[in-house]
Amino acid sequence: MKIQLYNTLTREKQEFHPLTEENVRIYSCGPTVYSYAHIGNFRAYLFMDSLRRVLKYNGYNLKHVMNITDVGHLESDADEGEDKMEKAARKENKDPYEIAKYYSDIFFRDMERLKIEKPEIIAKATDHIKEMIEFVKGLVEKGYAYETSRGIYFDISKLDKYPVLSNRKLDEQIAGARVDVDEEKRNPYDFALWIKAPENHIMKWESPWGLSYPGWHIECSAMGRKYLGDEFDIHTGGIDHIPTHHENEIAQSKGLTGKIPAKIWMHVEFLQVDGGKMGKSLGNTYTLDELQAKGIEPLAYKLFCFTAHYRAKLNFTFETGLASQKALMRLREGFVKQQEGTDEIEESKIKEYEDKFLATINDDLNMPSAMGIVWEIIRNEKQSKQFANLLLKFDEVLGLDLANSKKYLEMAKEIDLPEEINNLIEKRKQARLEKNWALSDEIRDELKEKGYIVKDTKEGMTVEKV
Ligand code: AMP
Ligand code: ZN
Repeated sequence: MKIQLYNTLTREKQEFHPLTEENVRIYSCGPTVYSYAHIGNFRAYLFMDSLRRVLKYNGYNLKHVMNITDVGHLESDADEGEDKMEKAARKENKDPYEIAKYYSDIFFRDMERLKIEKPEIIAKATDHIKEMIEFVKGLVEKGYAYETSRGIYFDISKLDKYPVLSNRKLDEQIAGARVDVDEEKRNPYDFALWIKAPENHIMKWESPWGLSYPGWHIECSAMGRKYLGDEFDIHTGGIDHIPTHHENEIAQSKGLTGKIPAKIWMHVEFLQVDGGKMGKSLGNTYTLDELQAKGIEPLAYKLFCFTAHYRAKLNFTFETGLASQKALMRLREGFVKQQEGTDEIEESKIKEYEDKFLATINDDLNMPSAMGIVWEIIRNEKQSKQFANLLLKFDEVLGLDLANSKKYLEMAKEIDLPEEINNLIEKRKQARLEKNWALSDEIRDELKEKGYIVKDTKEGMTVEKV
């Protein structure tokens, strides 16, 4: 069946045809691992996961790369400010590599909790310095890049067209632009490919331009090219990537290979919190742990994300999050009822649902409508294993772990815990987050003494009264 995907490049939905029969090649901009990923970030990876799952459901094999940015992402996308990794390292008094390892581990743990499939290739920026230097060298040789005392810059005036992805009007923006940081730049919108390291910069490498480090945009271009070639099928990211990061990735690739690297560019809209922007200073950049502490499971957050199309804004409040938690429990109960049902359903009815579901997800990943079909089946007056099996099939796309519904329901039935026990459990969760295994074990023993057994399962911690 045909798949329609919205392409930011052409600003329309278009029919998807992979470039080769073998694999659909996808590149997704991944996290900068200087801090905990928040629920806004995870909206982006949930979208990425829906795309993966829909393509696989349609029978495609994937070669999907996601990067881990562990160097070079400056505080502002416009080449200003400190490297986010270095800043975090200074603040936490740790080595930037330790910071990267710590936050990447938590990121992948959270991906698992959301049942987000891991892309086939995870590419860490610091493992690909050689490829990046080669890329920059190529651009210098072809006359697309030049050296200043601060680094190597891309000369946008050498391109036939810039920008191509966004509707940015450079002249207007230049008029209102902030004062440039580098007066040696030829054009205000030239951007850094490679940055010469100041004395106190920790992450730096030998290069033809001395001790230095990569710019954020070159990381994705070089790693995408290494694993997926000069041209691949789909590139994903958040809408914030459109005007700078992806625009500049395209510029770099056009400079080196003459090609826009991906055929389709897909972008997920932002998650808002309490009707406004998320921000560290606003104190509303919630993590999955913070949601969980308020009784909202990661999978309930996923279900919440399915209430809006990926190209629509979505507003999170604890109230709507808790409503999704209730909905998730109802979904599990409904699924178990279907599993235990004995009604006979005509095959044509099953087929009808199947076709409708496929047409819906293939229409630019319309997850809210797909969930509408799921609820229709759950609420059907007939109850049947055939419906349960159909829902399990749909769950290949949804990734809501419906197969374990019974287990989740049993876990939820566990007794209300006294405050003292709850506090100990929270303390233990924090200890585990900080990889303080000794403290975690100590608290487990204390809980045991008080008559509660904790078990650590893939889905999280469970507590039972002895
Ligand atoms: P970062 O780790 O800052 O590079 O961001 C990781 C991903 O999260 C990027 O794809 C961003 O576009 C995306 N992102 C950041 N904030 C939000 C948000 N509030 N809603 C949706 N996606 C977001
Ligand atoms: Zn990127």
